[in-house]
Amino acid sequence: MRYSGLKVIKEALTGHKGWRPTWRDPEPKKSYDVVIIGGGGHGLATAYYLAKEHGITNVAVIEKGWIGGGNVGRNTTIIRSNYLLDGNEPFYELSLKLWEGLEQDFNYNAMVSQRGILNLVHSDAQRDAARRRGNAMILNGSDAELLDVEGVRAMYPFLNFNNARFPIKGGLLHRRGGTVRHDAVAWGYARGADLRGVDIIQNCEVTGFRIENGKCLGVETTKGFIGANKVASCVAGSSSRVMEKAGMRLPIESHVLQAFVSEGLKPVLDGVITFGAGHFYCSQSDKGGLVFGGDLDMYNSYAQRGNLPVVEDVMEGGMALIPSLGRVRMLRSWGGIMDMSMDGSPFIDKTHVDGLYFNGGWCYGGFKATPASGWCYAHLLATDTPHKVATAYRLDRFRKGCMIDEKGQGAQPNLH
Ligand SMILES: Cc1cc2nc3c(=O)[nH]c(=O)nc-3n(C[C@H](O)[C@H](O)[C@H](O)COP(=O)(O)OP(=O)(O)OC[C@H]3O[C@@H](n4cnc5c(N)ncnc54)[C@H](O)[C@@H]3O)c2cc1C
Repeated sequence: MRYSGLKVIKEALTGHKGWRPTWRDPEPKKSYDVVIIGGGGHGLATAYYLAKEHGITNVAVIEKGWIGGGNVGRNTTIIRSNYLLDGNEPFYELSLKLWEGLEQDFNYNAMVSQRGILNLVHSDAQRDAARRRGNAMILNGSDAELLDVEGVRAMYPFLNFNNARFPIKGGLLHRRGGTVRHDAVAWGYARGADLRGVDIIQNCEVTGFRIENGKCLGVETTKGFIGANKVASCVAGSSSRVMEKAGMRLPIESHVLQAFVSEGLKPVLDGVITFGAGHFYCSQSDKGGLVFGGDLDMYNSYAQRGNLPVVEDVMEGGMALIPSLGRVRMLRSWGGIMDMSMDGSPFIDKTHVDGLYFNGGWCYGGFKATPASGWCYAHLLATDTPHKVATAYRLDRFRKGCMIDEKGQGAQPNLH
């Protein structure tokens, strides 16, 4: 069934009897060509591109909870391609290009909104760093504009310009960045994969791997053993726990990141802003709530909720940047588990076990990576070679000294 405006009108006039479930609810088969562990954004995107781009459709996505219950439905929805380093920026630029055509591609409204991201700067040194980052972005085919303080004031006059401890000196504007409705991304990819024959198995936890003579033969699950030629782990914040079952110790720590939403307001903020002198960033959802977040909770945890000191820190950051926030009421907050790698950059790689692959280490920036992560992981699974924009995301890069130490992307979570 193709979704379209015409279909909505037709269903409205005929009592909404023609809609079908967005994906099937199958029982697992005995074996698959590829079993993907984790029905988050990355796992579902991988399944979708495996089927669509490589014709590999005998695929299962095994999810312990429900589609969209992990970080893909918990993040603050920001997408961008504003990285500095060569190991990263071409990957994130591919991701942004995929976002730009995604809704047509998978025929689902994910509310991709390129409303622009403005990274504020508060010192001359920060302006220099922003200029350098902007130049690197442009060299890699992205877009960047350096604004002076009057340029920022023209966009967001309500920011704290004059009476501030950290006066605003300008900002790096990335116009193609923006927001996407996060859970719709999971649903769109799930639907697209399901339509092409992928089995999405919810409420099924992977509890172990069957590995014999150095080869992974499949996964043990709460619904029994499922055989596979290739097993692809894609469980984000649970990466260390899952890969431990295959005897692997990863350069990843799990930390909580919180997010917040205010009561609904009239339109006030039409883009995304990030504070350069504290941990605070903010956008306004289409429902009117201000969606904002800040820093990690700073201790290892698998709890999907955070604690009050960081709530206070984020509110302080918000008040320092937008004093009028003091009159807004908070509606709710939540947390997700971040798979923080030790250089802030991800992994898309084979493991030392034949037939076992790993995708993770997305830190607090993996939502924007969803399309490219799925695209490159599918490429790796289908061809056994890394995609050209993901060649740096190797598991052995710490041993070899090839870290991709991207400042501001989560490097050194323990020292943040
Ligand atoms: C508060 C917050 C704000 C964020 N903001 C942004 C942002 O603005 N922009 C951005 O780019 N990124 C952001 N992120 C990061 C981003 O959400 C994550 O990096 C990304 O979603 C991780 O990939 P995923 O979607 O595949 O993860 P998930 O949705 O977490 O998927 C992993 C899945 O694996 C499943 N799983 C785990 N263990 C097992 C098992 N044993 N068996 C079967 N299934 C299992 C889990 O249930 C889960 O559904 C934010 C994250 C949080 C928490």
